[in-house]
Amino acid sequence: MKSWVEISEERLAANYGALAGVAGDEVAVLAVVKADAYGHSAKVCAPVLARAGVEWLGVTDAEEGVAVRTAVAGTSQRRQPRIMVMSGPLREDAEAIVQNELTPVVWTRQQMEWLADAVARLGAEPLAVHLEIDTGMARQGVAPGAELRELLQWLAVQRSLRLDGVMTHFASSEVADSPLTLQQRVRFEQALGEVASAGLGPVWVHAGNSSTVDNSAVSEHDRGSLVWLRSVASGVGARAMVRCGLALYGYCLPVEGGRAMVEPELRPVMTWKTRVIGVREVEAGDTVGYNAIFTASRPMRLALLPVGYADGLRRELSGSNTAPGGWVMIGGRRAMIVGRVSMNLTVIDVTEIANVSVGDEVVLLGDGVTADDHARLAHTIAYEIVCGMRAESRLVSAAR
Ligand SMILES: *Cc1c(COP(=O)(O)O)cnc(C)c1O
Repeated sequence: MKSWVEISEERLAANYGALAGVAGDEVAVLAVVKADAYGHSAKVCAPVLARAGVEWLGVTDAEEGVAVRTAVAGTSQRRQPRIMVMSGPLREDAEAIVQNELTPVVWTRQQMEWLADAVARLGAEPLAVHLEIDTGMARQGVAPGAELRELLQWLAVQRSLRLDGVMTHFASSEVADSPLTLQQRVRFEQALGEVASAGLGPVWVHAGNSSTVDNSAVSEHDRGSLVWLRSVASGVGARAMVRCGLALYGYCLPVEGGRAMVEPELRPVMTWKTRVIGVREVEAGDTVGYNAIFTASRPMRLALLPVGYADGLRRELSGSNTAPGGWVMIGGRRAMIVGRVSMNLTVIDVTEIANVSVGDEVVLLGDGVTADDHARLAHTIAYEIVCGMRAESRLVSAAR
């Protein structure tokens, strides 16, 4: 195997515990396992989260939902987590949603008609749906006002659908005292008022993500998103919930202008590993890799790794003489990447590391070289780095 990902069961459970601790007893934490658990493998992570006691798992589409349903079915939980499908359904998703008791996020009458038809066709129980309110993202959701009121009137008389939740998503949750977040809250409160006026009583009210929990410190300007969420949920007699993904896996965007509440407790869950497939000595003046962007200035020892950008090791990590790039960890020490990262091969400098030989384990991402480090070099965010990895995941447990 060229490379593999080790998933720490303890760290995943501990990160969930850290989020749940800050969220508090009155705010549930939905565990987002979309995009194959942000590249960590939903099949591996969802059962760990189910055993940790999550009430809800979040996926992108019906197909992921079915896979996650199967993955958690084997866990001996007293209660199986519910599974929320967070991207809007297509007509062809409706039957799988109903048959697998997935809970879709919806915001149009057309989506709800497809689902209601599937419920009727399959003779199923009324389907719980969560209604998304667009408060400022202009992606998913219905805006508060006339359109929402009309939709609610229609929904209120449907027999095959049940309004189980009302939700929204914040555009800048990592920014403390963000005027946009404040505006989004006001719009969401208006929507919740309209839901109550339509005589509907959702069980769940949810908003926000990892950064909403991380950026929940009370400031002199703001009582914080969690306090706000709790109060608007209890105002309509519902339970509050926040939807967390990235922080479960050990990363979080920095809070801008405020204090981080969970980030200091998080630890990366993923360790991406490979093995050395070659070691060679080069002379001063020898060049390394495509376009010879690195020239040895002294005799060096280089190790070859069977991984490249096809596996998700970003090409921006390439290292030249003038612009050092990324690094890997080998025996707990840093080894710099030299030359261009190629499609399936990468060269590292092991001149200063004694006894490196073929078959030795190398950490491409994990302790000592984080997704944040890769993201900085690749001019992106940790989200894209962890989702971009192509390697099989296996669960490792320190207790074993
Ligand atoms: C992905 C997603 C989340 C989780 O976001 P993180 O920043 O990873 O915590 C929450 N809500 C919705 C609607 C999402 O799509």
